[in-house]
Amino acid sequence: MTHDFVVVGAGVSGLTSALLLARNGYSVALVEKAGHTAPLLRGFSRRGVHFDTGFHYAGGMGNGEPLDVFFRYLGLSDRLSSFPFDASGFDTIRTAPDGFEFRFPSGYDRLLENLVEAFPAERSAVEAYLRGVRSAFDSIPYLSLDAPLDPNGALRRVFGPTLRETLDSLTGDEILKSVLSTHCLLYGVPPEEVSFQQHACIVGSYYLSARGIAGGGRSLATAFDARLDELGVEILRGCGVASLSVAPEGLLRGVRLDDGRELRCGGAVVTVHPRTMLDMAPGGSFRPAYKKRIMGLEDTVSAFMLYSVSDLPLPILSGRNLFVLPSADSVRGIGNRPLEESPLYLTAARGQADDVPRGFIGIFPALSETTRAWEDSVTGNRPESYRRFKEGITDRMEHLVKRYCPELGRATACADSSTPLTVRDFGNAPSGGLYGVKHKVGQYNPVPLTRVKGLYLAGQSVTSPGILGAILSGFMACGNILGHDRLIKGLLACR
Ligand SMILES: Cc1cc2nc3c(=O)[nH]c(=O)nc-3n(C[C@H](O)[C@H](O)[C@H](O)COP(=O)(O)OP(=O)(O)OC[C@H]3O[C@@H](n4cnc5c(N)ncnc54)[C@H](O)[C@@H]3O)c2cc1C
Repeated sequence: MTHDFVVVGAGVSGLTSALLLARNGYSVALVEKAGHTAPLLRGFSRRGVHFDTGFHYAGGMGNGEPLDVFFRYLGLSDRLSSFPFDASGFDTIRTAPDGFEFRFPSGYDRLLENLVEAFPAERSAVEAYLRGVRSAFDSIPYLSLDAPLDPNGALRRVFGPTLRETLDSLTGDEILKSVLSTHCLLYGVPPEEVSFQQHACIVGSYYLSARGIAGGGRSLATAFDARLDELGVEILRGCGVASLSVAPEGLLRGVRLDDGRELRCGGAVVTVHPRTMLDMAPGGSFRPAYKKRIMGLEDTVSAFMLYSVSDLPLPILSGRNLFVLPSADSVRGIGNRPLEESPLYLTAARGQADDVPRGFIGIFPALSETTRAWEDSVTGNRPESYRRFKEGITDRMEHLVKRYCPELGRATACADSSTPLTVRDFGNAPSGGLYGVKHKVGQYNPVPLTRVKGLYLAGQSVTSPGILGAILSGFMACGNILGHDRLIKGLLACR
């Protein structure tokens, strides 16, 4: 079997890369280890309630905003129906135990108004912060179609300043700092590690607007599948790539699948975790320094998660998320705290037949080390000690949710729960990190171009996490093949 390109991994970045290459005339095979494309997006159901696992809401999906334009270019828009989250407050940040609340509205102007109303003495800090986010967001190629392709953009993410340093330079108000740092939970890196540039790349889209997709992540996965089919992409599901075939002169010439089949190709876009990519590459493909760097990359935080169903609708989570901070500095060192001191992110789960919240997902960041004792066990065959540990964590999560959010009522019951090991095994994430490799100051993540000719890298670890980040990574990688100017021109025509 010979194709122009093989795309490895059918998460959002792989699906995007396959569509971009096929839309521009190449023959493409897309290889996914799981039994479905986009396994992270498909979620699962319990007691008639569907729990999304990799997509709840996104920023920048409003008319003409970056994600909307990406969807149009990729041919997904007509297959998706998005709906606005509560424009007056899509994310509520609640500090416990004093019950202070701040609600993030859609739009920079409204956000400025709400922040100044809540922190009247901090107008200049808030203005400077929002100016900084906006200008950083607008400097990112593809997110802004006018931004030049600036190689130093990536360096600003490595050299900093960090979000924490930026906030410290603007204000001494610890509550304001924690409110503006809470969205770290959306990318799994604490404020003292993430660069301000990277933070802005993610929150900048949510400050534009926040929207959901009718039917959740499954609808997005189905839209991708239909478009891939339309463009004739060959999809190989349920069989991973075991290794990359590289000719002695350093040219990629194919991939070998777990079942021994060989796919010949002129090039490949690999979207898996960078350490998995390294395992696939023949020994001499990369320099020792590059290998050492990839092996040393730190992963994003993992999580314990609670999936609950409710007898009654939960209007508090309709078009809204709730973030609870047990103390002003609880996002500092996220994951590295006992459950009782950890921030909590609560988002809606919907019934099968309607879009009304009939349950919720509670996400407590945690380090993968918390389940290290059972790391050799596999799903469906974990020891009794793990089961008891998980039961204990689940009881504590239920108790905390009830304490922090009495509005969720007594009509809720736990339907399931998960640990960092679940994230590792269901998400094919080597260490159980929620969002791949950290983008943090001082850490050099791989870039799309590699030393192996014809081998390109994409994915959340390369560019940025989230649906927007994963799609962006597909554009960044494929721009090297198709020409960035050509892609930007195509996007401009869709604006
Ligand atoms: C709990 C949770 C909630 C989230 N909520 C949101 C949200 O509300 N909004 C948002 O925008 N983002 C959200 N995200 C983040 C978003 O889902 C991810 O950033 C994005 O989907 C990552 O896409 P990717 O293609 O980079 O990686 P992945 O989806 O990890 O894709 C990599 C693919 O490669 C496959 N693979 C691995 N090894 C092999 C192999 N050897 N051969 C072939 N295939 C292989 C994997 O199975 C996987 O499908 C959430 C993530 C999590 C974990």
